[in-house]
Amino acid sequence: MTNPRPLPRADLRELAGYHSPQVEVDVRLNTNESPYTPPPAFVERWLDGLRQVEWNRYPDRAATELRRALGAFLGQPAERLLCGNGSNEILQTLLLTYGGAGRRALMFEPTYALHAQIARGTGTGVVAGERAADYRIDPDDAVKTIERTQPSVIFVCSPNNPTGTVEPRATIERLAAAASEVGAVLVVDEAYGEFAQWSALELVADDLPIAVVRTYSKVWSLAGVRLGFAVAPAWMIEELEKVLLPYNLSVPTQVAGTIALDFASDMEVRVAALVEERGRIFAALAEMPAIDVVPSGANFLMFRVAGDAHALWKRLLAQDVLIRDFSSWPRIEGCLRVTVGTPAENDAFLAALGEALPEVVT
Ligand code: PMP
Repeated sequence: MTNPRPLPRADLRELAGYHSPQVEVDVRLNTNESPYTPPPAFVERWLDGLRQVEWNRYPDRAATELRRALGAFLGQPAERLLCGNGSNEILQTLLLTYGGAGRRALMFEPTYALHAQIARGTGTGVVAGERAADYRIDPDDAVKTIERTQPSVIFVCSPNNPTGTVEPRATIERLAAAASEVGAVLVVDEAYGEFAQWSALELVADDLPIAVVRTYSKVWSLAGVRLGFAVAPAWMIEELEKVLLPYNLSVPTQVAGTIALDFASDMEVRVAALVEERGRIFAALAEMPAIDVVPSGANFLMFRVAGDAHALWKRLLAQDVLIRDFSSWPRIEGCLRVTVGTPAENDAFLAALGEALPEVVT
């Protein structure tokens, strides 16, 4: 019998896919992008760089220049760097290398949905660990979970998406030691790392199974480029390189990533502005009745609504303000998440919220 519609792998049939609506609205605060474009001078340099390219040739497979420049920027040797098409590709490569059939990945829920999603795509088992009431990871509890479930990959998202929670250094150190004990890789997803007070980059060492994953999508204002990277011991990078598709990074991506670093001071100004606005939105939300806002070290804030959060989300959308609806997510029922935008966008959000809130509060 012919089968013109072959079935996907049995373990993928229940996979829901990634759902974050891309809707045309005036105020788009739902996917944690930067509201600012990179400086025009960056775009000019990038276009100039592209005019020199030999387009008939494959790109530099090792992304030598990008890794050298990025390593110099981070104070890390180039051998500790792996670059991919967004940090999602890096996360996938980590799972393809250290996860897979018969292995498990542990993540502490609620967290970035793609950790579990990509794990499933790579045939890796998914183990959900829990967080404390303040959304931090309890290190004692986490170590017990690690010992009990024997994962091959442990994800810690810090600052955590969607809660914004930053783990203290002592927690990451305990988890790295526990990972070492069970032969797992500790992946610290720092997609929002530059918005926080400290970074696990300082823990990367040759004798620790830790990979810190970062992205150009947020602070570098380059979500459209798709560039992310891991900082990990050279021996781990060598293993990851065996799995990564050859020539994965296009020439435009490599050039953008290298040139962006020359505009680091512009990036720092943008980050400082967003951190300041985060403080302003936090204070405004904390003043509102029926709203419980969670402290955040990222460019977004999660808040719980004492009322119909989904109805509130819809009312905001009707006012052309799109934020992210987590109201039906396990563990964060009734929660919404807003990305920090420009001051004008944030004003629009706060005004729309102030108007809609009384209508949904129970
Ligand atoms: N990690 C986290 C925690 C994220 O929130 C995101 C983007 N939403 C990513 C990774 C992926 O980012 P990108 O693939 O654009 O680098």
